[in-house]
Amino acid sequence: MHILHDQPAEFYSTFRLKTRLATVIEVDNVTELARLDITSSPLVLGEGSNTIFLEPLSRPIIRFTGTAITESWLHADKCLLHVEAGYNWHQLVSDTVDRQLWGIENLALIPGSVGAAPVQNIGAYGIEFADVCVYVDFFSWRTRSIQRLTPEQCQFGYRDSIFKQQLSGDGIIVAVGIMLSTTAKPVLSYQGLDRLAATCSINDIFDQVIATRKSKLPDYREIANCGSFFKNPVISVAEYHQLKLTYPAMPGFILADNTVKVPAAWLIDQQGLKGYRLHDVGCYLRQPLVLINYGNGTSEDLLALITLIQDKVRTAYRIHLEPEVRLLDSNGHQYV
Ligand SMILES: Cc1cc2nc3c(=O)[nH]c(=O)nc-3n(C[C@H](O)[C@H](O)[C@H](O)COP(=O)(O)OP(=O)(O)OC[C@H]3O[C@@H](n4cnc5c(N)ncnc54)[C@H](O)[C@@H]3O)c2cc1C
Repeated sequence: MHILHDQPAEFYSTFRLKTRLATVIEVDNVTELARLDITSSPLVLGEGSNTIFLEPLSRPIIRFTGTAITESWLHADKCLLHVEAGYNWHQLVSDTVDRQLWGIENLALIPGSVGAAPVQNIGAYGIEFADVCVYVDFFSWRTRSIQRLTPEQCQFGYRDSIFKQQLSGDGIIVAVGIMLSTTAKPVLSYQGLDRLAATCSINDIFDQVIATRKSKLPDYREIANCGSFFKNPVISVAEYHQLKLTYPAMPGFILADNTVKVPAAWLIDQQGLKGYRLHDVGCYLRQPLVLINYGNGTSEDLLALITLIQDKVRTAYRIHLEPEVRLLDSNGHQYV
């Protein structure tokens, strides 16, 4: 176990606002986790690619850094991987592609840890974590033991799960179980992959996803960002048809429950905010849904930019944009 004091927040968030974190505890096994003297529930962090610290944080942070992987073959073509939460997600995707195990190749280059993947049910290019999840091992602060949750118990939704809802603050994910297959299962429906042949290899998909992502998204190691800042809003079909009368070009994807998901990037772009800069924060030129920190961004500027975007979109379309990124105040509470 490592206990670090007075840490620069820039090391723990890919948005890199300059502030301080009072205590960061890193634990790499469950035995030590069970021994920890936890009085108030600590804040759980992975690699900080979906987290922004707005203010100096007094509450302790805990990170599970175990990275062990074990595999079991349930059928000739089905491999169950048990992966500890501290493993890097993209590294896992890359390892499985090297081994020709199908299932998560579309999720290449998503930053962050394996432990965070179930929390917002990460997704891209037509695949979500939920599609391969067999279980999630959750260590509860209260019972000091691991509970194994089935995908149904995880209540996966669009960028959502029980870990963001009822179980938020109750414990930490220590491992996940995912099922992959040696049988080819290409998912090519998404724009960017639809030009690949149905017979393409897993490496073709992996390479294409990486190339497409690199052409659209800034590398967070070069330009500080947390990926898509807002969720794509979901509205009723009636609201969508009403809006289409005024904005005929407005895109929308009809969902199974007869609602419509509208691309937040389109809404922001239409407000002329592509490349918009407020002091040292702004909307990325190639993808305005990604907010960036040019280097010396402040929480005041970031909050002003969020408000400006939300106000413009609400005024034009009566749609509220909800942040996908976790914004934390000095007590570790969600800000917006
Ligand atoms: C350039 C860029 C592109 C991105 N693209 C995508 C994308 O295509 N699709 C997508 O879904 N996301 C995307 N994201 C968001 C981000 O990669 C994911 O949300 C990722 O899962 C966050 O991982 P993390 O370890 O950095 O999480 P953190 O930011 O450290 O934490 C995120 C949340 O998970 C919780 N958490 C972390 N670890 C654990 C654990 N062990 N147990 C319990 N809770 C935990 C935290 O408490 C917090 O609520 C992108 C981000 C960036 C910077």
